[in-house]
Amino acid sequence: MSRINIIGSGISGLSAACFAAKKGHEVHVFEKNATIGGRTRQYTEQGFMFDMGPSWYWMPDIFERFYQNFGHTTSDFYNLVKLDPGFRIYFGAGDLIDVPADPAQLEQVFEQTEPGSAVKLRKFLSDAEFKYREGMLNLAFKPGNSWMEFATPTILKAALKMNLFTPMSRHVRQYFKNPRLITLMEFPVIFLGAMPDRIPALYSMMNHAALTQGTFYPMGGMFGIIDSMHKIAVENGVEFHTSSEVRQICTTGGKARGVDTDRGMYLSDTVIASGDYHHTESKLLVPEHRNYTVQSWDKRVFAPGCLIFYVGINKLLPELQHHNLFFDTDFDRHSREIYERPAWPGAPLFYVCCPSRTDTSVAPEGHENLFVLMPIATGLPDDPDTIAFYYDLLISRIERVAGVTIRDHVVYKKSYCTRDFINDYHAFRGNAYGLANTLMQTAVLKPSMTNKKIPNLFYAGQLTVPGPGLPPGLISGEIAAALAEKQLN
Ligand SMILES: Cc1cc2nc3c(=O)[nH]c(=O)nc-3n(C[C@H](O)[C@H](O)[C@H](O)COP(=O)(O)OP(=O)(O)OC[C@H]3O[C@@H](n4cnc5c(N)ncnc54)[C@H](O)[C@@H]3O)c2cc1C
Repeated sequence: MSRINIIGSGISGLSAACFAAKKGHEVHVFEKNATIGGRTRQYTEQGFMFDMGPSWYWMPDIFERFYQNFGHTTSDFYNLVKLDPGFRIYFGAGDLIDVPADPAQLEQVFEQTEPGSAVKLRKFLSDAEFKYREGMLNLAFKPGNSWMEFATPTILKAALKMNLFTPMSRHVRQYFKNPRLITLMEFPVIFLGAMPDRIPALYSMMNHAALTQGTFYPMGGMFGIIDSMHKIAVENGVEFHTSSEVRQICTTGGKARGVDTDRGMYLSDTVIASGDYHHTESKLLVPEHRNYTVQSWDKRVFAPGCLIFYVGINKLLPELQHHNLFFDTDFDRHSREIYERPAWPGAPLFYVCCPSRTDTSVAPEGHENLFVLMPIATGLPDDPDTIAFYYDLLISRIERVAGVTIRDHVVYKKSYCTRDFINDYHAFRGNAYGLANTLMQTAVLKPSMTNKKIPNLFYAGQLTVPGPGLPPGLISGEIAAALAEKQLN
């Protein structure tokens, strides 16, 4: 039995902890915050329970696979419901598409919007399913330490069909002409942190997740995922140390010897760092032990940051769905303000989650729980006046576009932005979602999971393989634990 120290209790750190403990090791998880979960934390205020980050539960098979590794199934922990409609897109005031869960109904929506598009949708989604099977169920589990991992006849043959060099925007336009359908089909890759013209069409696998598998919700809230992983970790003997910031990864003789925390030094045989990669490298390691220079991070393409409002409303809002995308302004303009000329957006796109439409437990009776998210460029200064300006702007847009009155019914509100991401997670420039999944930041080209100078130090999390999102976080932790295991043997 060896001792493994894990830095960070987000989904990737928890996953690594569960897998390492299952192998019989003594595992300690160190978390700087008072509560576990990282970006997937939850808080309760005035009877409202807010999930602080993720709200879309996609790829239920990846979660189920995780639970089965530990002799469990999803329903041991929460009631997973499929949302129908999966989500709503607003294109203007009262002008919307509800995306049905049922494939036949989805085809009808396509056909009504663009005659002849139902057949094309079927072809598009069949291609997307192929990519999902190869990408998420096979390639995503490779540590990405060398291109040789991908040099098998099956993978090379599949790679030819993966559209690695076609941008998602062109791929979508090869099938659809109607601007609404184009927006609907491009939307899922926005999760990957770059515009569809920068994301390889490999990631149309996200359309398989969004449109074929569907959008799910764990009753009780997304934190149920973290809670379930915590239970599995404790079942397997993992020890948690909250309010325990790691200040240094201690090394001697070219090996990691443990971590120095606010509460003292903890020795170990292996360290897995699952906090933000840039912070781990630049603050917890001396320069000669880093994989990347501080300057090289400036050349990386980061996924956006965001401004979030957690809002409590003292009436019901049947006009809203669980997931509502306000795409009633110019997509290109907002994306240029995120990626090309970083600035606070003039006419932003944004997203509103109203989980209390599905789950009455997340708001007091007769109330609604709103999570309003606007993507922004990383590193923007978030002074109170700017935040107040966008609160007004977004509330007015929700009222006008969805045809509701909410301003006078707000009984609770709290904002969360750049400085909070930096303070809470040591996020580089306050990024929310890690690195963008551009071609040049895919697989081996992502920051490495292995420290090249310290053989018993590994990385997990959204800045390394396979990337941002909850399912990739589960996979990242599993790979990191496997790398650690291999090194220990
Ligand atoms: C607003 C938002 C919305 C999102 N929406 C979705 C969604 O709908 N669906 C989806 O699948 N994904 C979504 N994501 C992405 C997903 O939440 C993340 O990719 C994932 O949670 C990242 O997990 P992680 O383990 O890599 O990092 P984190 O969750 O950030 O965990 C890292 C942990 O390390 C801790 N830490 C850092 N440094 C130290 C240190 N020195 N000592 C001790 N602890 C330290 C941090 O406090 C943190 O708890 C969203 C993310 C955000 C921010």
